[in-house]
Amino acid sequence: MSSTEKVKALRSRRLSEGLCSECGERPHRPNRHRCEQCTAEYSKKDRQRRKRKIASGVCHTRGCNQPLETAELCKQCHAKMLKKHNEMRRKFRSQNICVCCFANQTNGSVYCEKCHLKQLSTRYLGSVQYWPLLLDLLERQNRRCTYSGIPIELGKTASLDHIVAKSKGGKNTIENLQWVHIWINKMKNTMSNDEFVTALDEFSSQLAAYRTSKN
Ligand SMILES: [Zn+2]
Ligand SMILES: [Zn+2]
Ligand SMILES: [Zn+2]
Repeated sequence: MSSTEKVKALRSRRLSEGLCSECGERPHRPNRHRCEQCTAEYSKKDRQRRKRKIASGVCHTRGCNQPLETAELCKQCHAKMLKKHNEMRRKFRSQNICVCCFANQTNGSVYCEKCHLKQLSTRYLGSVQYWPLLLDLLERQNRRCTYSGIPIELGKTASLDHIVAKSKGGKNTIENLQWVHIWINKMKNTMSNDEFVTALDEFSSQLAAYRTSKN
């Protein structure tokens, strides 16, 4: 057995035992072959390699030395990258794998629940670290819309609503957020809680009149 073959065999044995193929010490990431630490180390080294190549004006792909077309890649590699990216997204989606963390997730969306919440946390609370607050809020609402009680799903029908609209001075704080069904959220628009509840009351009495007129 050649040394390359030996290394290959060692790596696949580690993977079959659920371990990182690089260090063989820690478990590998879901659907990946390295552990968190080894991934971070590899990424760091690779970033430095890329930076060096870009600084000298060539495409950062390994083995490619074509002049830059975009900020980081040559024309060919850029086209390849886009194609690969789209294929990967499609494949991951069909296999229920999160495109962000590679964890298995089963709700048919692009991201797992945690990655969804992390993105929302960044957008609504200014930092990725507050995602557990959003999960906690969702759980406290029994994963149902505040107003309608309709069950809501992350990545599909669940949306965050500012209790006091941003346009009316509402803040990006957990106290000013609630989970609302996406349709209801569109209806509420920038209305305050009281305004919306009043409007709903009016709608429902009008609705009865509307139904009678149609019968
Ligand atoms: Zn490792
Ligand atoms: Zn290239
Ligand atoms: Zn994820």
